[in-house]
Amino acid sequence: MIKIENVSMSFGDKKVLDNINLEIKDGETLAIIGGSGSGKSTLLRLMIGLDHPTGGKIWLRDKDIAHMPEKELDELRLHMGMVFQYSALFDSMTVGDNVAFGLREHTDYSEQKIAEIVREKLEVVGLPGTEDMMPGELSGGMKKRVSLARAIAFGPEIIFYDEPSSGLDPIMTDKIDELIISTQKRLGVTSVVVTHDMDSAIHIADRIAMIYEGRLIAVDTVDNFRRIEDPRVKAFLRGLY
Ligand code: ATP
Ligand code: MG
Repeated sequence: MIKIENVSMSFGDKKVLDNINLEIKDGETLAIIGGSGSGKSTLLRLMIGLDHPTGGKIWLRDKDIAHMPEKELDELRLHMGMVFQYSALFDSMTVGDNVAFGLREHTDYSEQKIAEIVREKLEVVGLPGTEDMMPGELSGGMKKRVSLARAIAFGPEIIFYDEPSSGLDPIMTDKIDELIISTQKRLGVTSVVVTHDMDSAIHIADRIAMIYEGRLIAVDTVDNFRRIEDPRVKAFLRGLY
């Protein structure tokens, strides 16, 4: 379980997140929606310990990652996968080396074992045999899938996705959504998916949380969420953000 307790985040004078309280249960898929600049990516970065909040606590396995030494965080991150908003592959490395990166950094697995894991993960994301390609040769959707292969290389317990289908066409968006669902089912992971796309959120999530100008204004099961009367939620549902 991840428990976000009274979390606030400011950059200089600017308050970007304001007193967020949210619990994410083991094995669930939570979608976080909200308009551009509402604070979604910031919240995700806090959950994975890439930034530290200016106030509040973030509990992960009964430890507060908001105030954890970097070394301990590194250890914890081995159990987390992250698919970044801007796919963040290393452009000068092959696809295979990108997927293998964390394994080489953090394990003493043999090259043979690493190659086997890379092969299997690329197959899972529908890109078998692409080990020797360079990121520059891939489409946006393929890059996202390589990012996902890298994120699952370790067998994480939690996967964070930041706009996994931004910039992709509807067919590729569907493919990525299916991949998120099948990864969740196959590995039983907890998934936190930030998205602009209400259709995706409804499709993949157990619950939906909405952030509006740095505040969490609604969180509920998908069915209940669609019936929320708050005008800001209704406007989002109508596609106005
Ligand atoms: P989008 O949907 O466009 O990705 P978002 O909901 O992910 O938006 P964030 O990236 O979390 O929004 O940004 C929220 C606010 O915080 C924005 O106003 C942004 O300019 C600001 N912000 C984010 N990171 C920083 C930073 N490192 N320094 C200063 N301001 C920042
Ligand atoms: Mg963002």
